[in-house]
Amino acid sequence: MSENVIEVRDIVRNFKLGQEEVKVLKGIDLDIKRGDYIAFMGPSGSGKSTLMNLLGCLDTPTGGTYRLNGTDVSSLSDDQLAEIRNKEIGFVFQTFNLLPRTTALDNVALPMIYAGMSKKDRNARATEVLTSVGLADRMDHQPNQLSGGQRQRVAVGRALVNNPSIILADEPTGNLDSKTGVEIMALFDKIHADGNTVILVTHEEEIAEHAHRVIRLRDGVVESDVRNR
Ligand code: ADP
Ligand code: MG
Repeated sequence: MSENVIEVRDIVRNFKLGQEEVKVLKGIDLDIKRGDYIAFMGPSGSGKSTLMNLLGCLDTPTGGTYRLNGTDVSSLSDDQLAEIRNKEIGFVFQTFNLLPRTTALDNVALPMIYAGMSKKDRNARATEVLTSVGLADRMDHQPNQLSGGQRQRVAVGRALVNNPSIILADEPTGNLDSKTGVEIMALFDKIHADGNTVILVTHEEEIAEHAHRVIRLRDGVVESDVRNR
């Protein structure tokens, strides 16, 4: 298998806005190696979230190809895409996107229901993952009983639970105070050190410094791509 977990070739994404066709991603090429730690930066509106949604199989491109683990996922059906997403992708959102009135344990266990695991196995794995993200004593808490940092830890646990090929995080510290943001970045550092491929978006240089490669987008193209480790 290629050491590239991600191979993107000339990816284009247009959106229809009324009569107009808005070109958001204008031809992006990208190779990402297994085990890498990447930060995407760039001005608001440059296309970072649009690209993350494509990489996370939440969306498909208008043109170009996206190979994930060697499989061309750019033209799959919605059902096939959902299966790949559940198996291969861990996605962390700025706004956590947890189920309300649902315990941390059940939030983390949810992706394993789709994966067809037994309840006993789901609970054992969710307990293991929540312990690894520092929430051993918060398993039975619901999101509204947790701090922002704890909610994001639950979301990171949910992203990790099916052992995905890549962890994607779109501004994961954007809704957190700076001290909590640093704690969440320490968690991403640990997840990367465990051997995971981590790809995040941030506006903050201090956050981007955690990554080993910083890719800047501008107006839908890659402006710079710098490896620092
Ligand atoms: P970033 O995350 O870098 O701030 P986005 O990827 O969210 O940027 O958005 C890039 C551009 O694409 C913006 O101008 C935005 O308005 C536009 N855009 C994003 N999604 C859609 C959509 N579904 N329909 C129309 N325009 C969109
Ligand atoms: Mg964005």
